[in-house]
Amino acid sequence: MNKQQRADLVLRRLGELYPHPPIPLDHTDEFTLLVAVLLSAQCTDKKVNEVTPELFAAAATAEQMVELGEQEILRIIRPIGLSNSKSKNLTRLSQRLVDEHGGQVPRTLEQLESLAGVGHKTASVVMAQAFGVPAFPVDTHIHRLAQRWGLTRGKNVVETEQDLKKLFPQACWNDLHLQIIYYGREHCTARGCDGMKCGLCRELYPQRKSPVVSRKA
Ligand code: SF4
Repeated sequence: MNKQQRADLVLRRLGELYPHPPIPLDHTDEFTLLVAVLLSAQCTDKKVNEVTPELFAAAATAEQMVELGEQEILRIIRPIGLSNSKSKNLTRLSQRLVDEHGGQVPRTLEQLESLAGVGHKTASVVMAQAFGVPAFPVDTHIHRLAQRWGLTRGKNVVETEQDLKKLFPQACWNDLHLQIIYYGREHCTARGCDGMKCGLCRELYPQRKSPVVSRKA
């Protein structure tokens, strides 16, 4: 099976397993989604969903977030990792939205990436999930699975994103990135795997005899 055939098979099987993958971070609009994605860096979605109800009850818009202020944001989000830098970034980002974008979330990757605490992955998630623009946010989990499935030899998330974008039609990128995340959480975790325990890998690599070693992102 060549790389494109493997990609087609992955797309088919994940589509069967997760036909309508939900967005895992609770939110009500693009601003609350942007905040939730920013908070999710190096933290589980579950933990983020535990703190955002109180945060969004206090501030669900950029203006309200500025008014709430860094110290109160920090108090609310303290249970999640990196809360100091996240509360700083959230305050600066909200202020920028108020000052330069009328309190709205901008709709281009470049503008999003220029906001405090928003990197390429966060910006791509917002483009995909808030605005429906095709994007393929690749994190370390997607990077790991793409290697295990023989879809990339990328040394980092940037190279892996380029490879995956070539292999899959644009129309499926937004769902596929979520489908891979769900599969990773349920079956293909970061801990060691010999690459032969799931039906998917057995289909992709029926002859596989030795363990798969994936590169770190
Ligand atoms: S066999 Fe291992 S590498 Fe392959 S999908 Fe399952 S957990 Fe992932």
